[in-house]
Amino acid sequence: MSQRINILPESLTNKIAAGEVVERPASVIKELIENSLDAGATDISVEINAGGRRRIRVTDNGHGMSREDALLSLERHATSKIGVDSDLDKILTLGFRGEALPSIASVSRFSLATREPASPEGTEIVVEGGRVRDVRACGMASGTVITVEQLFYNLPARLKFMKSAETETGHVADTVSRMAVSRPDIAFFCSCDDRELLRLQRSDLQRRLAQVLGKESSRHLYPVQSETGSVVITGFVSGPLLARSATQSIYTYINGRFIRDKVVQHSIMQAYRGVIDRGRYPVVALFIELPPEEVDVNVHPTKHEVRFRHQSVVHDAIQKAVEETLRRSPWLIDKPAKLDTRDSSVNYASRERDAAAAQASLTLPSRPMNVSPQAELSRMQPTTHVLPENNVIVREPATPFQQGQTPREAGGYFSSLSVIGQFHSEYILCQSGPELVVIDQHAASERVAYQLLRQQCLDGGIESQRLLFPATVELSFSEVAVANRFSKDLSGIGFELEPFGGTTIMISSIPRIVAEKDPLLLVRDILTDLVQFGTSAAFNDVLESLLSRIACHSVIRGCHTLDNRQIKELLYRMDLTDFAASCPHGRPVSHVVTLAELQKIFKRT
Ligand code: ADP
Ligand code: MG
Repeated sequence: MSQRINILPESLTNKIAAGEVVERPASVIKELIENSLDAGATDISVEINAGGRRRIRVTDNGHGMSREDALLSLERHATSKIGVDSDLDKILTLGFRGEALPSIASVSRFSLATREPASPEGTEIVVEGGRVRDVRACGMASGTVITVEQLFYNLPARLKFMKSAETETGHVADTVSRMAVSRPDIAFFCSCDDRELLRLQRSDLQRRLAQVLGKESSRHLYPVQSETGSVVITGFVSGPLLARSATQSIYTYINGRFIRDKVVQHSIMQAYRGVIDRGRYPVVALFIELPPEEVDVNVHPTKHEVRFRHQSVVHDAIQKAVEETLRRSPWLIDKPAKLDTRDSSVNYASRERDAAAAQASLTLPSRPMNVSPQAELSRMQPTTHVLPENNVIVREPATPFQQGQTPREAGGYFSSLSVIGQFHSEYILCQSGPELVVIDQHAASERVAYQLLRQQCLDGGIESQRLLFPATVELSFSEVAVANRFSKDLSGIGFELEPFGGTTIMISSIPRIVAEKDPLLLVRDILTDLVQFGTSAAFNDVLESLLSRIACHSVIRGCHTLDNRQIKELLYRMDLTDFAASCPHGRPVSHVVTLAELQKIFKRT
């Protein structure tokens, strides 16, 4: 009988484990910082070269390791953090699997130097592809220095998946930022090719958030503080003004560990129902503390997912905590009604803008974060205006008509409809023989704008509009990386973006079709989209999505009263559009109700 089954050699099992834990330089750094935090470090420095592809070095001033422990730490399932079965039910450290160091060491050229404070000398261990090559004494400050060179040099399949140095740098800096938010009491430093990316002194959460999110963003954060049974929730949440097009600015931590969890995210979004548009996400830094036995972190090797013992209790506690903060927020405060009666036609973003402006001049004690007044900010931050002489702005598709103009005649279907009027300032009602045609004015305008943008692209480029006062926007590191990488392509679709130091970029031009809209919001969304699509995709592959994003920004959201002339113009433009009867997001634009259907409803048949 043949023997088919082998027990795999440890070098191979380590590589398999690495496949789960080590995806890219940023994941190595996450594991190493977790170890430094678990070792009680108060100062953590991350230095990378070529986005971490060439070299990663993490230095801490934690309790270090003895020579014996240092050698043991490289063995699979070797950990100082748990010892017996029951420990798994009450994990208080970030690590516990004893997998990170051997996994990383198996797929790189690795060295570990460490010294306990009481020891006269340190130990340095050099490992190559999982094999220990050298162990020697070394002089060093107490703490631990881990150096990872040529990550995946012996795993060509993984090597291929690594992105450009710029992209990887973005991920690394975002990872360090996320962890830095979880521990404002720890100093963090991060550099790439000797260029400083982050230098964060020990401080409190407010200041740390301002350093990581940018001063301007942190002005729109409101404190959360709540206790429901054994669930304690603290942190900050944003108003609608900061809403983003993806979830990347939702930072949630369970017992100090950064996690991405559907239940947690759902509870937050429930609290924001009616406050921000669907498909948009707030900026949130929320710390959920609960007894360790109430949460299982042993779900996935990366420990990004958790399971709650009492899921609905946690869900409701988070929702309640966020709702309480939003209820007190300045843009909802003059609407004393309960949150679930929020009026979807109210533009909370503009209310927040007004509230922020009012607060800036009043210096209310309840102001979120200790920030400088608007006056001080506006000195640093150029405001946005549109060049007056360039006022040949493409007319708003939803308000397309200028005074004194008469609608042109066109022979198409939509122009031939006889207009009944508008319903709920959102829908246009028309008649066509025995049919009632209902048009979603927002979806239709978006479709028209999208078509115009596509046409301009085919004709050589999207018309762009220079801003009289260029605006600056603070971004995440990944967003800056895509802005630089695609700057030429972005200029082809109307965006001129220039580096403005650190993670700030300056917007000098935007597509003309959105000239009167908020350039900060649009640029942020476009870059978020690019980060989401991944930089491996060719720009042309994501072009359509970007055009629909611009189209979406070009139209007025929600309720908007149109006069007859504006309705006629929209119908006319719909006829000029290569109409797929759906908006760029695939939502239907028009719907026909036949006379027969109505008669059936009224039991006339
Ligand atoms: P885990 O963190 O799950 O225990 P790791 O493989 O990440 O597993 O680390 C193995 C062990 O090495 C840890 O349990 C810890 O005792 C030790 N260790 C790792 N990094 C450090 C560090 N920076 N300082 C002190 N000890 C460390
Ligand atoms: Mg660890």
